[in-house]
Amino acid sequence: MIDSHCHLASEEFRGDLSTIIDRAQETGISTMITIGDTVQESAECLKIAEEYPSLFAAIGVHPHHAKNFDEARDGTWLKEHAKHPKCKAIGEIGLDYHYMNSPKSDQMSAFRCQLQLAKELKKPAVIHTREALDDTWKILQEIDHHGIVIHCCTEAWNDIERFVDRGYFLSFTGIATYAKSDVIRETIKHCPLEQMMVETDAPYLSPVPHRGKRNEPAFVKEVAQCVAEVKGVSFEEVDAVTTQNTLQFFGLLP
Ligand SMILES: [Zn+2]
Ligand SMILES: [Zn+2]
Repeated sequence: MIDSHCHLASEEFRGDLSTIIDRAQETGISTMITIGDTVQESAECLKIAEEYPSLFAAIGVHPHHAKNFDEARDGTWLKEHAKHPKCKAIGEIGLDYHYMNSPKSDQMSAFRCQLQLAKELKKPAVIHTREALDDTWKILQEIDHHGIVIHCCTEAWNDIERFVDRGYFLSFTGIATYAKSDVIRETIKHCPLEQMMVETDAPYLSPVPHRGKRNEPAFVKEVAQCVAEVKGVSFEEVDAVTTQNTLQFFGLLP
């Protein structure tokens, strides 16, 4: 099994990262994709990915930090570091109109720029979208890059169906395990397993029964278990198919 999206460069893992990675591997999590939110964190992701064979990295600037995105400076940095052998994607990038930590116009231009970069570099893109589905769709169609995953998908099937029809992947987190998340479980029911990934988004969003604690890659099993129950298939099948999807998506197949 793979945790397709976690933030292992986060401060919260600074004290015990090797323990966390060992525990994930003992639980059967063979691979983890650690995601950058800023240039600084992206650099840290590459550094820890160098240290651990089971880690790969995505580099990018999150929409929260879009107001600090400088196309010349940061675009150049990303282009340069995308060549790193452990860099497997650009992300996370996208739009977040819920928190609105950066103005819409800054979010849109940082997203466009980084998505264009991913396309040029032939790297897949990890997309964060919250309350911004229409603009996300618009930019995705504009740039028309293949190799798109909508991470931490919480959308209703009616709203996200066109993304799946377009060939994009959906990745689900522990939110799917929460009692109130019927809408997400309905989306899981409809989304073909062949276009699905599982993730923790650790250190945030711990699945049930770990809710309220710091999240970690070992807990991605709870997400896969939830997908299995919702779809009425075995845990082993969810594990096999999502692992294959994730290896293929990030170019990790031998
Ligand atoms: Zn995100
Ligand atoms: Zn994330």
